[in-house]
Amino acid sequence: MQVADRIERVNENIVNFYLVEEAGRVTVVDAGMPGNWGLLVDGLARIGRTLADIEAVVLTHAHSDHVGIAERIRSEAPAEARIHDADLEFLIAGKRPPGGMDLGLSRRLLSTLAYGLRNGGIRMPPVSVARGFADGDVLDLPGSPRIVHAPGHTPGSCAILFESRGALMSGDSLGTLDVVSGRTGPSISPFRTDRAQAIASLARLEGLPATIVLPGHGEPFAGSPAEAVAQARGRLGRR
Ligand SMILES: [Zn+2]
Repeated sequence: MQVADRIERVNENIVNFYLVEEAGRVTVVDAGMPGNWGLLVDGLARIGRTLADIEAVVLTHAHSDHVGIAERIRSEAPAEARIHDADLEFLIAGKRPPGGMDLGLSRRLLSTLAYGLRNGGIRMPPVSVARGFADGDVLDLPGSPRIVHAPGHTPGSCAILFESRGALMSGDSLGTLDVVSGRTGPSISPFRTDRAQAIASLARLEGLPATIVLPGHGEPFAGSPAEAVAQARGRLGRR
């Protein structure tokens, strides 16, 4: 489904990733779970593109539900894999960054786990070659993504701003679906390396110029990052 100017959302269950097209070339933002290859192929077909049109896969962070098909895209398109410097070692080692979670048993959590099991999303497949980026970098890729480092969920968690499209891809620094409790609406993730840092990082997002926030999990938020951040802050402490 098209969610912004030449931006296609690919989604199933808890997984979101995005195809950003410019002049026939494509930046893929995030890469779902290992079982999500068919979603990518279908998404590309919807926008009239193929695997060979992919220029790069840009990852918001090194978690198994965001990098699942990154190695396959890298080798088969072929395309470059990019991630923040602070998550690069985890991506290449296929190793989960440190962290805990707010555990609560819910129907949503069971669905999340079942979907993860079916799609190989429990283990993180390593990406053999990837290049790091840093806060403030504007990548020379379709859509000219600008990197906004928003750590806490993982050390290298980032949001990706496509300023000319008015779209902020917030990764898991700000979501609209809590994959543990099932609650919807803007919130920080129940999983994280450092909760206080994840909360502090909301300040890095709120001033960004965008009219839609496209999260790593959940539906698009049709409003500014400032509005989404205000709602996420309002929810802190009351899960
Ligand atoms: Zn994550």
